[in-house]
Amino acid sequence: MKIANHTVVSLDYTLTDEQGQILDQSAQGQFVYLHGARNIIPGLENALTNKQAGETLTVVVEPADGYGEREDALRQVVPLDMFESTEEIVIGQQFHAQSEHGHPVTVTVVAVDADGVTVDGNHPLAGKQLHFDVSIVEVRAASAEEIEHGHVHTPGHHHH
Ligand code: ZN
Repeated sequence: MKIANHTVVSLDYTLTDEQGQILDQSAQGQFVYLHGARNIIPGLENALTNKQAGETLTVVVEPADGYGEREDALRQVVPLDMFESTEEIVIGQQFHAQSEHGHPVTVTVVAVDADGVTVDGNHPLAGKQLHFDVSIVEVRAASAEEIEHGHVHTPGHHHH
């Protein structure tokens, strides 16, 4: 079966940056997604269309088809007293916040000093050219319920 909308795809991937450094790697056969439902970034999804189990491919995804360009405006300094917790705030720590449009965003602490806490709302992979080495493990038809929900249902792992 070829990968098309309404198919469920299992694949293995290794994600590296332009310098060849590994950014992310799937556990063997554990990455499963519903094709055509924007479960994965557009650059990777488009490259997988019409491929089938057993095929391997290398996909280079530019930021526009990945996690977007970095936006300096998403970096801001938050006064220390905005943080309820008295726990120490450390660089690299992530918080869930809301954008000015009310969307949920994850921000990462990039600096802590007397002025406050500098947080960055860019996706950690924003602005990066992404290199995926992909091996397609399995392709199956999605169930009607999966199509309706827009995500994969795996036994014992029904995420909502
Ligand atoms: Zn569901």
